Amino acid sequence: MTEIRTAGALFLPPEIESAIRSAINPAERILCVSHVSPDGDAIGSLLGMGWILRHLGKKPTLALADKPSADFNFIPGFDQIVAPSAVADSYDLIICLDASSQDRMGNVYRPEVHGQTPLLVIDHHITNTNFGTLNWVEPGCAAVCQMLVYLADAMGAPLNGSLAVALLTGLITDTLGLRTSNTDAHVLQAAMRLTDGGAILHEIVARTILSRSFAGMRLWGLILSEAKLQDRVIWATISRDQRKAAGAQDGEGEGLAGFLVSAKEADIGATFTERVNKAGEAVVECSFRAKPGFDVSQVALSFGGGGHPPAAGCTLTGPLAEVAAQVSAALQEARRSQLAARKEPTMNSVVHG
Ligand code: AMP
Ligand code: MN
Ligand code: MN
Repeated sequence: MTEIRTAGALFLPPEIESAIRSAINPAERILCVSHVSPDGDAIGSLLGMGWILRHLGKKPTLALADKPSADFNFIPGFDQIVAPSAVADSYDLIICLDASSQDRMGNVYRPEVHGQTPLLVIDHHITNTNFGTLNWVEPGCAAVCQMLVYLADAMGAPLNGSLAVALLTGLITDTLGLRTSNTDAHVLQAAMRLTDGGAILHEIVARTILSRSFAGMRLWGLILSEAKLQDRVIWATISRDQRKAAGAQDGEGEGLAGFLVSAKEADIGATFTERVNKAGEAVVECSFRAKPGFDVSQVALSFGGGGHPPAAGCTLTGPLAEVAAQVSAALQEARRSQLAARKEPTMNSVVHG
């Protein structure tokens, strides 16, 4: 297994480039996959990788375990994404994008039939478990779509047309419109190059982060009146009955944890959403957000999930109220210990006063 973690690389480091080339060049049948409940970076990087591979003369299969939201159908190639039923047993190479662990690929990836196939992992989650045979993990990048800008450069794929639209979509959605704390000059440079290549920033913003359904808004209305705040942790539960009452489908009303953490009185925000998984079991999807200076990725990891310091999540089984009580307590505890660790004198604080 090869692990390559780079410190904020702004291009494809040569050793990664040659390893990726050696993996892609001889491969005829390539499967690309991203994570369950796909977001803009999952869909954008999947489609973007598809366009890079087509530039190299390949005909990849692009698959997702969960049906992607039609909100993203403006990205060229969206209609070619296939469901797990269309995924074959045999490939020369599997490329996994924006997923921090193997289970995040859902039932697109079947270990019993795909386990021997070379697996190239391209990801930016700090909690990535290096589950590939070749892992390019770059937590310094704000989106996998940013990493693909550097991959496209290395592979000679021009950053325009369909590729530019796909990559700018993931960059915009993962940075909430170039506003998160990891939006640095390199992210802006990547965004500028994609807009220069023809992707229209305001249209992508309007179709993604600024677009909500009425049912989703009604759901927020129901949920917000019952939000709880304790020790600067704010959280809310979303039951199946509440989703039904609001007429909200899966995916509608997403983003509430990010809204909750905008409360002046909070450092950490969380939502707990009751769902039924494919096996028919009741599960609770937990979504966490933290203000800069706080880290929710380790709490998510400790519950079997993952993510980034400011945005992370996990999926647990158990009754909604119990999960919310247990996990919100863990978030309060994590916040307290992060504050305590900050107060301990360090060499740096001595040196810098
Ligand atoms: P979300 O709150 O669903 O927008 O997810 C925030 C971040 O946490 C994303 O980077 C996800 O990839 C990650 N994440 C969410 N749920 C899980 C999970 N069940 N397992 C691993 N990572 C997750
Ligand atoms: Mn994602
Ligand atoms: Mn991402």
